[in-house]
Amino acid sequence: MTTATAVQTPLAVKDLKVYYHTRRGPVKAVDGVSFELARGERLGLVGESGSGKSTIALALMMAHKEPARIEAGSILLNGSNLLDDNDEQVRLRRLSEIAMVPQGALNSLNPVMRIRDQVIDGLKDHNVRMSDGEFSQRVAELLDSVGLDRDVASRFPHELSGGMKQRVAIAIAISMNPSVIIADEPTSALDVVVQKQVVQTLREVQERIGAAAIMIGHDMGLMAQFASRIGIMYGGKIAEIGPVSDIFNNPKHPYTRLLISSLPDTRSKRRLEGIPGLPPSLLRPPPGCIFHTRCPEAMEICSQEIPPTRELDANRYAACHLYGDDDGKVVEL
Ligand code: SF4
Repeated sequence: MTTATAVQTPLAVKDLKVYYHTRRGPVKAVDGVSFELARGERLGLVGESGSGKSTIALALMMAHKEPARIEAGSILLNGSNLLDDNDEQVRLRRLSEIAMVPQGALNSLNPVMRIRDQVIDGLKDHNVRMSDGEFSQRVAELLDSVGLDRDVASRFPHELSGGMKQRVAIAIAISMNPSVIIADEPTSALDVVVQKQVVQTLREVQERIGAAAIMIGHDMGLMAQFASRIGIMYGGKIAEIGPVSDIFNNPKHPYTRLLISSLPDTRSKRRLEGIPGLPPSLLRPPPGCIFHTRCPEAMEICSQEIPPTRELDANRYAACHLYGDDDGKVVEL
């Protein structure tokens, strides 16, 4: 994977470490994660609870709160490191360059404001100047783009269904044509049919504005519907990352293999339930490969040395001692 500082790469995360500081010591929720997103690319981040995927989402939005702290790494957004920005610069870059579709739109929408005003507020907060008529036109276009009737603009959130609220959240997220959209389990509270529709809408608008997108979640069926590439997270690290078809059809990392083989056959029920055994302590992670306490293929070296990440195929990376120099070169993602 190339090291990208170019503006053509909307997002390049390098060796990101996010720790929660507790009285017992630092909990290494994200521990050296690197990846890049090309323009228009869709990455799915998958993992059990506590694997660090939601912490990554918060850190990318610079919305993490104490006791979480970014310890190291960089987040290059359109070529410039978010970690070098002051609070006001970060505030202005949210929505205009990177925007989030949250887990539950119910909690992100203001219950006492009409949808129109909520959309316009975001634009005004970013110094967008338009006439009232132009603002109304922009709201109407955004509602069109997410498949909602224009009269939704005059309604309050409680007058909308869960799926409609989530579409409003998508409309707000794309209101300034950001280069990166992050969707953190965007459909978790919705029924299966509506989930698929909302994910389809997200994909359509993402393609239309050419944004890169990250979707975080458990549902492998929705991931397959949405993502072009999937990153499998375990214990705050990326175990494997590659094109969606490769991950499903030819998983390389033992953890990925267990996840894929544990999926029920019915595609619509491909919800990640986890695998036998307990997740590792991120307060005192085991030495060597962090997965070795649960890995059916663990070898002696696995409890002694952290496996390097190798490029096993084009655009395909895994961190596992099963692979040696003959399988692929060691890379720094
Ligand atoms: Fe399993 Fe060893 Fe590979 Fe870790 S490095 S996933 S313990 S085989």
